[in-house]
Amino acid sequence: MHLVAEAEADHPLTGYLCPSRLPHLLAQQEMDTLLESRMMAAAVDIDDTLVKAIPESDMDKYPPNRVHVLDNLPIIVVVSSHTELFLKQASTKFKLYLYSVGTPEYVREIGNLLDPHHKLFDWNAIDSGSSSARHEHDHGRETSPKRLERIIPFCNTEDGVDYQHCLAVDDNPKAWAPPCRKRVIQVISGFDSQGVWDSNLSDVWASMERAHTKAMSKLERSQEGGDLSDSSEEEVETQESEEEIEEEEDDEEL
Ligand SMILES: [Mg+2]
Repeated sequence: MHLVAEAEADHPLTGYLCPSRLPHLLAQQEMDTLLESRMMAAAVDIDDTLVKAIPESDMDKYPPNRVHVLDNLPIIVVVSSHTELFLKQASTKFKLYLYSVGTPEYVREIGNLLDPHHKLFDWNAIDSGSSSARHEHDHGRETSPKRLERIIPFCNTEDGVDYQHCLAVDDNPKAWAPPCRKRVIQVISGFDSQGVWDSNLSDVWASMERAHTKAMSKLERSQEGGDLSDSSEEEVETQESEEEIEEEEDDEEL
């Protein structure tokens, strides 16, 4: 549930009383169903990951099919040349949640642009506003407002948060609260010499597939009564972690 302070809410808030274990039980059921289908969950950032907002003067640098004026917001975005294939591939092994510090309206616009038939993303999260971390950023004054447990319900278990079947895809790992950063696969994006923006989502998909294979074989081992050690803090393979390793090696040389 995504609550907004009463003074800012457009509509009165409605709440329900339920047994305190119920949310965890429902989340557990959802996780079990997902894992039975050998699926994991991924929270996917929007800006500089799937799309980038550009000024009108840059529109003609891109092929027309990559540039879109949003229907209900005065924003022009260019879609990464990898986005369509990436979302198609990622949705075969991951339940996908859009997750952005942009406003709920912006997230909905991008959702409709990239997923017009509402088949790729979890639309409950988009429609409820949970896909936007704008409120936490603006009103909670959090500089790292993104948390996996805020967008992916089944990260919340009765024993606390459990990230082992969830990961994040984001160009900015620092937008994530420190406990989640190890689960972020960093997207490398930028401009070429002609000032044309793109992001590299094919390497991201390769990292996601490896993380998926690793998690599923671990799950199978645990179901067979083998290794039950907790991997919720396990670091996913990211471009940032490789850079960190290189930095460490440089330090050693000095
Ligand atoms: Mg971003």
